[in-house]
Amino acid sequence: MSIKISLIHKKYNNQKALNDVSFSASKGEIIGFLGPNGAGKSTMMKILTGFIKPNSGTVLIEDIDVLQNPLEAQKEIGYLPEHNPLYTDMYVREYLQFQASIFKVDKAQIEACIEKVGLTNEAHKKIHQLSKGYQQRVGLAAAILHNPTVLILDEPTTGLDPNQLVEIRTLIKELGKEKTVLFSTHIMQEVEAVADKVIILNKGNIVFKTDMNQLKATNKSLEMLFREVTS
Ligand code: ADP
Ligand code: MG
Repeated sequence: MSIKISLIHKKYNNQKALNDVSFSASKGEIIGFLGPNGAGKSTMMKILTGFIKPNSGTVLIEDIDVLQNPLEAQKEIGYLPEHNPLYTDMYVREYLQFQASIFKVDKAQIEACIEKVGLTNEAHKKIHQLSKGYQQRVGLAAAILHNPTVLILDEPTTGLDPNQLVEIRTLIKELGKEKTVLFSTHIMQEVEAVADKVIILNKGNIVFKTDMNQLKATNKSLEMLFREVTS
């Protein structure tokens, strides 16, 4: 298994954010992570990437225990956080060089990543000069610099215009050919277009999970299902 989460429980002070969440992903699978605001998606992703600790439960990434061995596990993980924290005064290439130096990545990787995410014609610009769609590409490039096997993308298409949305979606699908991807979104069509599996979280509980193929066979739209299990 590429991702294996078992019985994750997380409380912020007295507030329960995740309640015994378990799921797994095989190598190369793309998983759409859905849920209303406040459901616990970002919390789950921060735990998966070792940024925060759960109260209990285990997280394995490529069989490495994230809680015991966060640095080893993080070598396998590319993470695009919810608000894509970029240094917007930096040039694209300069920012990626900076990231590469932090993670001790071979500089040769930088150009390959710039090309992979379609930033070749923008790499000489300052990040704040780029559209939101291209800024997301910078975040994605930074996430894949160290060639991780697992990508965790927290709402990668939120705030994009319809064209950018399709472009980033295509890019996620492309990256998913060689990596395991868990991405959160509020857009049902995105999950239908990109994901192999869907997981729906509500109030810290997994309320639904299925294969997209099985879902298609039921003739129910994901939107109907989402409403049923979360409202
Ligand atoms: P989602 O990403 O699905 O919108 P979050 O994981 O951000 O959900 O939040 C889950 C719940 O945990 C929410 O009720 C939220 O208010 C709460 N929460 C998130 N981060 C914190 C924090 N740092 N301190 C206290 N409560 C938090
Ligand atoms: Mg969130």
